[in-house]
Amino acid sequence: MSGRWDTTTAVIDGQLALLVLPVIRETDPPEVREGIARRRLTATTGQCPCGAVRNMPNRAQRRADQRAGRVTRLDVAHEDGCPASDDSLLRLIAQADR
Ligand SMILES: [Zn+2]
Repeated sequence: MSGRWDTTTAVIDGQLALLVLPVIRETDPPEVREGIARRRLTATTGQCPCGAVRNMPNRAQRRADQRAGRVTRLDVAHEDGCPASDDSLLRLIAQADR
């Protein structure tokens, strides 16, 4: 899984955020590239072409994460069949990494 992630910044709810996102590799099958592209798009713009939106934890949750030294995770519920959904993408990546 080395080289699978990179970082980028985006302004989310008026705050600068550092996003850790999966990298699109040219060697990956087209479905994996599409799924990863959608994840990157959703994280940075807030919406996936499937209609899913980025759910940012509320301020209290983010503060609790900060106090506990935890990273705040974005929650996105992609539609079934979206190549960015956990079920689709994790399976496709596992196959591609064999
Ligand atoms: Zn989606």
